[in-house]
Formats: sequence, structure tokens, C-alpha cells
Amino acid sequence: MTSPASGIPPPLNGRSFAVLRELMVERQIVARGVHDPRVLAAMRKVPREAFLPEPMRDLAYEDAPVPIAGEQTMSQPYIVALMMEALLLQGGDNVLEIGTGSGYAAAVLGEIAGHVATVERIATLADTAAAKLAELGYVDVHVHQGDGTRGWPPDAPYDAIVVAAGGPQVPDSLKAQLKIGGRLVMPVGADQHAQQLVRLTRLGEADFKRDHLGDVRFVPLLGAEGWQRVEPADKTARDNG
Ligand code: SAH
Repeated sequence: MTSPASGIPPPLNGRSFAVLRELMVERQIVARGVHDPRVLAAMRKVPREAFLPEPMRDLAYEDAPVPIAGEQTMSQPYIVALMMEALLLQGGDNVLEIGTGSGYAAAVLGEIAGHVATVERIATLADTAAAKLAELGYVDVHVHQGDGTRGWPPDAPYDAIVVAAGGPQVPDSLKAQLKIGGRLVMPVGADQHAQQLVRLTRLGEADFKRDHLGDVRFVPLLGAEGWQRVEPADKTARDNG
């Protein structure tokens, strides 16, 4: 691999990654309006490059999603920050993530929350992410392999749920696993490859407030309460996550 598309020279050692990480936070995240100090501190700390295979590490701090195994992606840094801020975490929260992927966003959650359960449908991704999170010392982040559209009942109810893949609607199982007052952030759209980022706040047993946070493009949420099969994407459009 040669230099990344931004023109920033490939990093030579850990210190260079630290510089790129700081630039990522300032130019991609703060500059676009994310200000939650917990989110910014977490993103200044988590070594994003560690969640990529060695040959891909020079792309870790690009302003774009990065391909990982199984035709999946590690989400664009800004989108991770936007979703984390929208969860309104207080510190010490009980959080569920659907779509572990590389494990990067789970590590960011792990910096803020008290307990994180994260579910990934592709076993090889779940295994790789679990090993990396353990190696980096994220003992409060628990990776499970399975269909996350059903949530993760053993650790419910959750203060916050984040879904890192786009579905046709918010799965009922996830709504049921949210505390009263809890927040759920998920890309939702009738088109498998274009979504609106939606936040649901559970106000009561069957009462949810819905906020729309903008247009996004995520890989499809595949499962019992998601899409049944993948449809070909329009390759001219650009993904966020
Ligand atoms: N948060 C990840 C990005 C995830 S990309 C990161 O930081 O790297 C979305 C992931 O959702 C993919 O890995 C995909 O396999 C997974 N996924 C799709 N449908 C799922 C389902 N029903 N349950 C769990 N994971 C699912």
C-alpha cells in the first residue's frame, strides 16, 4: 500500500498514529459539531489502527469507512462520534451495540460506558474483535456471535442501544430491551443502502419519541427483524459505515 488518499504520509510509528488521531478528532469530529467531552476523550484514546489488519492501518484515520473482512466496514470516525453523542451517555451506562464489525466502536463505548454487550452475526469478525478488545484490556466489553436484531436479552434492559447496520425499521426486540428513558440510535430506511439516522427515546412502556439525525449509508442489518437478504448496492454512492 502507498500513501493514503488524503496525502498525509503513512505513519511510521505509534507516535504518528497519535498525531493522526488528534487531527481526526479536531478536523473530522469537532469541526463538524460533535462536542460531547466523553465522546471526544474516548475517540482521542482508542487506537483505531489496532482494529484493522496490518496492511490497512494507514487508512485508519481517513475521513471514510474502511473495508474489513466479510464485505463489512469499520464506520467513518465522524459517524461513530455522531452516533455516540446521540446516545447521550452519562458514564457508567449499560449499553448494547449491534454490529461489532472490527470492534472499534465497541472500544469507544467501552471507554465511556460501564458495561457493553456487542453482537455480531459473522463469527470470524466476532472472534477477531473479541481477541483485539481483550488484548487492549476492554474487560467490560463482551462480544457475542448471533443475530443482533433479537438484541441480547441476558444483559437487558439497556440505557442505550446503538445499531451499526441499516434496517427497514427498528426491531421490536430492541425497543423492548430499552429502559424507560433509554435511547436507541439506528440507521433506518426502506432502501437497503440508504438510511436516515434515527434516535428513539423510550418515554413509557409503549411510548417512543423519534428524532431524525440526518442521511447515512450503512451496510444492511441482516436477520429475523432486519433484511432477509442482501440486494446489490449502487456502487456510485459512498458509504459512511
Ligand atoms: N461498529 C463496527 C462497524 C460495523 S459494520 C466497527 O466499529 O467496526 C456493521 C456490522 O453489522 C457488520 O460487521 C455486519 O456483519 C453486522 N451485522 C449485520 N447484521 C447483523 C445482525 N443481524 N446482527 C449482528 N450483526 C449484524
